[in-house]
Amino acid sequence: MSSKAQKLDIVFAASESLPYAKTGGLADVIASLSASLVQKGLSVTVFLPLYGQIDREAFSLISTGKEIVVPVSDRKERGLLYRGEHAGVMFYFIEQDRYFNRLGYYGTEEGDYFDNAERFLFFSRGILEGLKVLGLSPDVLHCHDWHTALIPLYLKESYRNDFPKTATLFTIHNLGYQGVFWHYDWHLLNLPWDYFYADGLEFFGKINFLKGGLFFADQLTTVSRKYAKEIQTPAGGQRLEGVLRKRQKDLVGIVNGIDTTEWDSAHDPYIAAAYDSDRLAGKAICKTALQKEVGLPCQKERPLLAMITRLVAHKGIDLLASVLETMMKMPIQCVILGNGEKHYEDMLAVCAARYPEKMVVKIGYDPALAHRIEAGADLFLMPSQYEPCGLTQLVSLRYGTIPIVHATGGLEDTVASFKSKSGRGNGFKFKSYTARAFIRQIQKSLSLFRDKKKWRTLMRNGMRGDYSWGASAEVYVELYQGLIDKQEKR
Ligand code: ADP
Repeated sequence: MSSKAQKLDIVFAASESLPYAKTGGLADVIASLSASLVQKGLSVTVFLPLYGQIDREAFSLISTGKEIVVPVSDRKERGLLYRGEHAGVMFYFIEQDRYFNRLGYYGTEEGDYFDNAERFLFFSRGILEGLKVLGLSPDVLHCHDWHTALIPLYLKESYRNDFPKTATLFTIHNLGYQGVFWHYDWHLLNLPWDYFYADGLEFFGKINFLKGGLFFADQLTTVSRKYAKEIQTPAGGQRLEGVLRKRQKDLVGIVNGIDTTEWDSAHDPYIAAAYDSDRLAGKAICKTALQKEVGLPCQKERPLLAMITRLVAHKGIDLLASVLETMMKMPIQCVILGNGEKHYEDMLAVCAARYPEKMVVKIGYDPALAHRIEAGADLFLMPSQYEPCGLTQLVSLRYGTIPIVHATGGLEDTVASFKSKSGRGNGFKFKSYTARAFIRQIQKSLSLFRDKKKWRTLMRNGMRGDYSWGASAEVYVELYQGLIDKQEKR
């Protein structure tokens, strides 16, 4: 590591991170990227909301005794700063029970909280106030997703004198979530109306928080190369492709890594037997154990297909629904772990009830079961309509569980179709987003499954890949350094 990198002082702003709060891959990425940067010698501090669900005692969080005061509309809202540490990363939490001590992080089954604009405006501006109170002035403020996208704008508009040298980097983890609110919320922000225009926060007459990051951050990244291209097109841009094309030069796609210590089939405390690419026998034990656990017949030769996912439209649950009946006629078993939209949960439960010998659906969020499914399954389905990066296919590859994916975003970048002749490739991919194309790849995988020798080659190809943060974290370090160099020249 260079001595230059040692001096880098980075603050992450994010709405979730392991081990404290998680609803999806963002939490994995914040935790594993920050830890990996610390290992490279950087100083990384993460700011999170202090959700009511976070067990302060269990995580040894301590109050700093410092208070922040945040302008929200014509009010002053107060918050308290707590501190914790994990894997060498310093965490600060903003406590404000009225905003963050609720049943969910973003909403309930009934939908998003009506005051999410206010909650995350408070959080974003609260981070800038928090940095001031703590006397911190990072080199780079690295903001993640819409919840913290207003920070680059506020930094320029109201806090430049407090942080004269701080640069901003904004990462798009999923363009599908933009933080769009009606314009009557504008008064909350305390920003001049000058920002309510197309090259600001205005978005078809509404307020779009994400645009704060897209227009005002010094540098943009997203989580795979392919996704960086897709979001600049009408098909993938979610009505922001024009904005993203304007910032094309500042937008870089960097593929996510996974925590290779947590996801390690050779040392995984949750699974029935250890295995790796040289000792595959343990995987069969994991399969039998999983079949027993979920109540499927213990049939060694039956390909076991799996999914672990949030049950939302962009994960391709409709496409899955359109092929389920056909799948159930095949000689397979299927286990799905997921939660999310009620109609998807019900649809899957109905199918599982019709085919109890073949399909099991576990509705809920269960990290330990996720480990056992990754270890026990033969194939992993990811028919996502779009997928910025995707982490579960990376875990599957590492666990010798062959992914069948739609060729989009990070799935396109990380999964290569297996070629029987050359023995190259690590999975199955379909390009056209149709039931026919999806089923064809499932059929292809089932026929290859019968060829044990080729199947082992396919498993090993995946298991021997590098899915750590190593190379990607290095790209972030270079971007941070580039931003600092630019800032110093100003
Ligand atoms: P996204 O962030 O869009 O949900 P990713 O593939 O990037 O998708 O990350 C999903 C993360 O959440 C993975 O770590 C996956 O194992 C985990 N996950 C998703 N659903 C569940 C669930 N029902 N139970 C346990 N873990 C889950």
